[in-house]
Amino acid sequence: MRKSASKDQIEQLISRLDLMKLNFHMLDFADSQALALTDDLSTQPSHLFTQLPAVAKVVRLEETARLAGRSKFNPVEIGTLKIAKGHSPVFIAGPCSVEGEAGIIRTAGKVKEAGAQLLRGGAYKPRSSPYEFQGLGAEGLRYLSQAKQASGLPVVSEITDAKQLESFQEHIDIFQVGARNMFNYELLKELGRCKRPVLLKRSFAATISEWLNAAEYIISAGNEKVILCERGIRTFETQTRNTLDLNAVALLKRSCGLPVVVDPSHGTGKRELVGDLSRAAIACGADGLLIEVHESPDQSISDREQAICPEQLKGIIADCKNIWELLNPQAAATISKSSAALGASV
Ligand code: PEP
Ligand code: MN
Repeated sequence: MRKSASKDQIEQLISRLDLMKLNFHMLDFADSQALALTDDLSTQPSHLFTQLPAVAKVVRLEETARLAGRSKFNPVEIGTLKIAKGHSPVFIAGPCSVEGEAGIIRTAGKVKEAGAQLLRGGAYKPRSSPYEFQGLGAEGLRYLSQAKQASGLPVVSEITDAKQLESFQEHIDIFQVGARNMFNYELLKELGRCKRPVLLKRSFAATISEWLNAAEYIISAGNEKVILCERGIRTFETQTRNTLDLNAVALLKRSCGLPVVVDPSHGTGKRELVGDLSRAAIACGADGLLIEVHESPDQSISDREQAICPEQLKGIIADCKNIWELLNPQAAATISKSSAALGASV
């Protein structure tokens, strides 16, 4: 819409859309506003809209992911933390599964000390076999909450069923949707009706378009706070658990405004490769990393082979910050200037 559009002109546009019974989403950006129309308008001429004074231009999006494929989004914010292009990368770390109260509290302290800003831990574990540890469930969520209180780190955990929503709202800051549930459209719609951010993992057999369409389910239901997470796809290769598709990350960062984080732990399945792929992910534009960390990796109940220790995490974070600063000198300078100003004013 025109930056100069008056309130009356915007109302005139909205009543035209109401009259035409068209669904729309108002998109607010720092310096402008846009309206996204999600109905099929292929037979409607553009001049129906361009003749209105509030309209600057009409852009037709051919992709089905009309909202998720947009190039502009507000950063996803968790407290003072911002996850978006142009902001320093975020590091989400913690065990595959929450295994007990004391352990997750200790781990939270250790990953924080290593530089992580968010704690992860699975309470409901969608395991490949029903005979494997399924997670501590609601008890695990309570332990995560305690670890958050003790460390001050916001928490991320995987939701596997809409029935868990209430307890997640009580204890969790970011909903994780796992690879196995990326196609669970009813769950995605429910999360779209929530206010909290959703970390949407790519399914191991999903194309980029299918992944964006999963994000579309959440956004079109009303929640724009979606963080995409590349976690490796299944290919013919058997020497690594999955093939981390960094093509997807580079491609999305050129066209789509949603934040993209990378999970090198599930992407490789091998702890000795986690550092290499973390550095590569940041180098190709990822906005953050999600890494499985255990205080004693060999004792992990789930995903033992890919767990790293807090000391390794510390080295990876330091490397990734250096790489990001090297590749984003302007953004890095702005951030260091504003934190110096903040320091001076305190
Ligand atoms: C996890 O993060 O522990 C997990 C189960 O991931 P994914 O859904 O990517 O397999
Ligand atoms: Mn895992």
